[in-house]
Amino acid sequence: MEQGGIIVKQKTYSEVWDLDVFFKGGSGSMELRTHLDSVKEKLGSLEETASAFEVPRSAGASKQVVDLIESLKEVALNLSQAGAVIGCFLAADTTDKKALQLQGETGSLGARFSTIGLKIRQTLAKADEDTWNGLMESDELKGFAFVLNEWREEVNLKLSEEEESLITSLSVDGYHGWGQLYDMLVGEIKIKIELDGEEKELSVGQANNLSSHENADVRKRSFEALEEAWEGKEDFFASALNHIAGFRLEVYKKRGWDSVLKEPLLRNRMSEETLDAMWGAIGVNKAPFVEYLNVKARMLGTDKMNWYDMDAPVTASTKKMTYQEGAEFILKHFREFGPELEGFSRQAFEDSWIEAEDRPNKRPGGFCTGMPASEQSRIFMTYSGTMSNVATLAHELGHAFHSYALRPVHWMNRQYAMGVAETASTFAEMIVADAAVKAAETKDEKIALLEDKIQRSVAFFMNIHARFLFETRFYDERKNGIVPAERLNELMAEAQQEAYGDALNTVHPHFWASKLHFYITGVQFYNFPYTFGYLFSLSIYAKALENGEGFEQKYMALLRDTAVMSVEDLAMKHLGEDITKQEFWAKGVALCVKDVEEFLELTSVKG
Ligand SMILES: [Zn+2]
Repeated sequence: MEQGGIIVKQKTYSEVWDLDVFFKGGSGSMELRTHLDSVKEKLGSLEETASAFEVPRSAGASKQVVDLIESLKEVALNLSQAGAVIGCFLAADTTDKKALQLQGETGSLGARFSTIGLKIRQTLAKADEDTWNGLMESDELKGFAFVLNEWREEVNLKLSEEEESLITSLSVDGYHGWGQLYDMLVGEIKIKIELDGEEKELSVGQANNLSSHENADVRKRSFEALEEAWEGKEDFFASALNHIAGFRLEVYKKRGWDSVLKEPLLRNRMSEETLDAMWGAIGVNKAPFVEYLNVKARMLGTDKMNWYDMDAPVTASTKKMTYQEGAEFILKHFREFGPELEGFSRQAFEDSWIEAEDRPNKRPGGFCTGMPASEQSRIFMTYSGTMSNVATLAHELGHAFHSYALRPVHWMNRQYAMGVAETASTFAEMIVADAAVKAAETKDEKIALLEDKIQRSVAFFMNIHARFLFETRFYDERKNGIVPAERLNELMAEAQQEAYGDALNTVHPHFWASKLHFYITGVQFYNFPYTFGYLFSLSIYAKALENGEGFEQKYMALLRDTAVMSVEDLAMKHLGEDITKQEFWAKGVALCVKDVEEFLELTSVKG
């Protein structure tokens, strides 16, 4: 770059993340070993303190409770940091055996920590009404009242102390182990495909990236190769999925919970009314998106949309960006929203918080993980230069920004739920996507970028809806026994047709095997929170456009409140909206319909 005759060298950002800053030397790190040993020691003394902890008899116990919270925080921060780093090692190299072994170790430590947390919650919950109220009003604890009340409520909904602690310890091998097995199976899959006259062996992540290839034949062949790979191991995946679900259902049955949605709704601090209102508003507004899919299919020369064409580019000029260009593009548009988001993200690029390199043996997908003991985050993805990769990068930076906004908040009040977890990420993604449409230089480019935005609505209103329908129905059938792979394929195909408003010519029956989210044991129903976050952030975004520059501080105030109130209260306090009503959600959907209308207009005059 040249400025006033002086050559200004633009910073080159590393595409490989820096994990050495936490523990030098990868999974064999001595520093990591020492850290884990020290966590183990702290955990041991916390176990002693926790077992000596007695049911509070008066509000005077508040000092003791707050000390206990501080000890919990100390172990939690260090343990999750170790777990996060190890997760990063494995994501970046699925063949890292040492990391796999360490993951087992932190898994056990995590289970011990959960047991301690549970013990403390159960003991606290036994305090009588007067003592409890006194504790909640005390200077030491009143700042934690929301979370503490939630703890108490949860204890009352669950089984006895002994039973719950048995479940927690059995879940290491009997539950979470299935999720780890899934990751291992996927990591081993190699997709053989001929590209540019050369036989290539790709990881699942690399093959997935071919879904947006400009060549229809490559898209179809890579999709088929993937489907074949999932089919080849379908019985293993079906077994893992059935055991995960079986374990969950058995626990729910013992607790007397009749709905599989009870736990995810509790976790999301969301009412069923809100969830119903959201899907209701989406359900009655599918027509424009079906029309978009039909138009796109015709643009691609078919009558009806094929699954493998869903991500196909519709114009010749699909912009590609190098990683550096993608980074600068994101920063430029973040800057237009606010200085904090831009400054924070620039730092993340400069300090190598991001693993983006396109290479084999990486896990597919993208994620952002917190390193809470260092107040940092790390982002993982496979960047191949598409606009959708740029959006993913912005999305993950949004997650990291959420953690950044929460830095002044105590650990106890930072444990935000899934739905709001996807709010900051979607918001960041939207800034970049919207700005990109506005900045488009040609009509083809505008169509491509607009389409990228619509794709997102299709993902949240149709793809995620299909996952939700599939999972709800699968769990229903699982109650009566093992659901074989063949039936899972059927359930998935049905759910996809329904969620896509019958707009599909071919579907993706093995989607249940290919999608990691169904196998994440720590999180139940990792689907509807995405849609919630998308529509919720859309309405924040609309407010941001109304408010202009000063909005960033208000936005950060909302983010800081994400872990201390129900989503209904959060929306009421910061947006003045009642989200249990379909009208709220319909407003968000209407914004997305506008994109479709613009797209249809631009493509119809295209001829
Ligand atoms: Zn996300």
